[in-house]
Amino acid sequence: MTTLPDKTDRKMGLVIDLDTCVGCHACVISCKGWNTENYGAPLSDQDPYGSDPSGTFLNRVHSYEVQPEQGAAQLIHFPKSCLHCDDAPCVTVCPTGASYKRVEDGIVLVNESDCIGCGLCAWACPYGAREMDAAEGVMKKCTLCVDRIYNENLPEEDRVPACVRTCPAGARHFGDLGDPDSDVSRLSAERGGMDLMPEQGTKPVNKYLPPRPKDRIEDQIDVLAPLLEPIAADTGGFIGWLDKALSRLPGGTI
Ligand code: SF4
Ligand code: SF4
Ligand code: SF4
Repeated sequence: MTTLPDKTDRKMGLVIDLDTCVGCHACVISCKGWNTENYGAPLSDQDPYGSDPSGTFLNRVHSYEVQPEQGAAQLIHFPKSCLHCDDAPCVTVCPTGASYKRVEDGIVLVNESDCIGCGLCAWACPYGAREMDAAEGVMKKCTLCVDRIYNENLPEEDRVPACVRTCPAGARHFGDLGDPDSDVSRLSAERGGMDLMPEQGTKPVNKYLPPRPKDRIEDQIDVLAPLLEPIAADTGGFIGWLDKALSRLPGGTI
């Protein structure tokens, strides 16, 4: 077992706008590129050009078509990476201390040299955000691009996560969610930023901004409502639907 800090000085994380994400996967590619070419061992692929390809990705985008009772179907694109949870079960379950949460900024990392590849953290993470690298035999996950955000060798505009820098839709935002006056905190407050699967008690730092109502009067309905079934007593609306979709998701597939 590994302990978590009682509190962290900052809560660095992402705010992801599900209203403006167009599902282009540019963030997936830039994440794979940066973390293969720059940080630690490369993210390996197996049979990448064969009939059954697989590989290690720290960020994936899942797309869902939602058909309301009236009107056109709506596509929801849902990017998913580690949410750098305050109460991270992936850390407390780790038997070697390889998984840890940093006091200075709240980023959850894996010390690959101490990882024995037991997979307990992947089992404990309710979001499927951890990735076992089949070639390396160690667990990998989103680092919040810790080797970019403090990197004084990079131009200042590049000292943000690769996925944030790349997103052509401006759907990804980075900052300190522990500071109520930060841009990301204000954006999240204004747009009703949500915790993913709050009933899991992980206290994720990352927030998701729900899709906004459409302009046309006939679109001003909760297109997800017909699909909802209660997942937990305190979830409903869009987050309830997301809970349901995630619970059906096989871990580690695009
Ligand atoms: S999202 Fe999963 S891997 Fe990331 S901190 Fe939370 S429990 Fe751990
Ligand atoms: S913050 Fe960095 S490691 Fe995390 S998803 Fe974005 S590009 Fe990948
Ligand atoms: S790059 Fe931006 S718009 Fe494209 S899938 Fe990622 S978050 Fe969505």
